[in-house]
Amino acid sequence: MVDVRGVRKSFGTTEVLRGIDLAVRAGEVTVVLGPSGSGKSTLLRTINHLEKVDSGWISVDGALVGYRRSGNKLYELREREVLRQRTRIGFVFQNFNLFPHLTVLDNIIEAPVSALRKPRKEAVEAAKALLEKVGLADRADSYPKQLSGGQQQRVAIARALALEPKLLLFDEPTSALDPELVGEVLDVIKGLARQGTTMIVVTHEIGFAREVADTVVFMDAGRIVEQGTPEAVLDHPAHERTRAFLSKVL
Ligand code: ATP
Ligand code: MG
Repeated sequence: MVDVRGVRKSFGTTEVLRGIDLAVRAGEVTVVLGPSGSGKSTLLRTINHLEKVDSGWISVDGALVGYRRSGNKLYELREREVLRQRTRIGFVFQNFNLFPHLTVLDNIIEAPVSALRKPRKEAVEAAKALLEKVGLADRADSYPKQLSGGQQQRVAIARALALEPKLLLFDEPTSALDPELVGEVLDVIKGLARQGTTMIVVTHEIGFAREVADTVVFMDAGRIVEQGTPEAVLDHPAHERTRAFLSKVL
């Protein structure tokens, strides 16, 4: 489903991704761990083409991200094609990023109506079903600021799902939340995992990784240091850097 090959990315003279190879199978959950500045967010952003890679390539669901192949030549997609491609990849941010001036319902239907040209009535029906799914059926008419952080993040998840993405990316979805609100958001993500949603989740929630991940990836300084099952990486890490990191977050 997701193939990342030889991806490198620099900002100025700093190489932030130093040759990343990662494969995610359909229906699987990959949890990415690593210290601050190791390149986790940058990796997610390249998968969604919010950042352009310097070398290597990424494919999602059989399509090259940001490029079109014609014969043996690659052509960069135009902005409009990039946007269309991005609608197939949901992204949930640390800080929710809801539109503050729109109600919960309007936040969810905005992209399906404007980007996918879904009929409004159909989008509203789908949005209500999604609100039910994230446990917020009664908050359709609220504004983001009237909701708790955990509720806002659940709306953000519903909004991402409204585009029926092939892949969902989460960048520290619970790290801006008060501790007592973390569980309700993780529960929604766990539910998606049970339904076979393909996801890449950057998080420091080790318990969540243990319970939900098919694969745990540990990144440090722009490289994948090790990856494997939760048992392998969390309980029997092969590398000293992984052990040092885990001893700090556990
Ligand atoms: P954190 O756990 O703190 O979120 P991270 O693993 O997500 O860290 P990234 O955000 O991917 O790390 O950043 C990796 C490095 O790239 C950092 O040194 C950061 O300062 C740098 N960086 C990220 N985005 C940019 C940018 N747009 N311009 C310049 N440098 C950047
Ligand atoms: Mg980050």
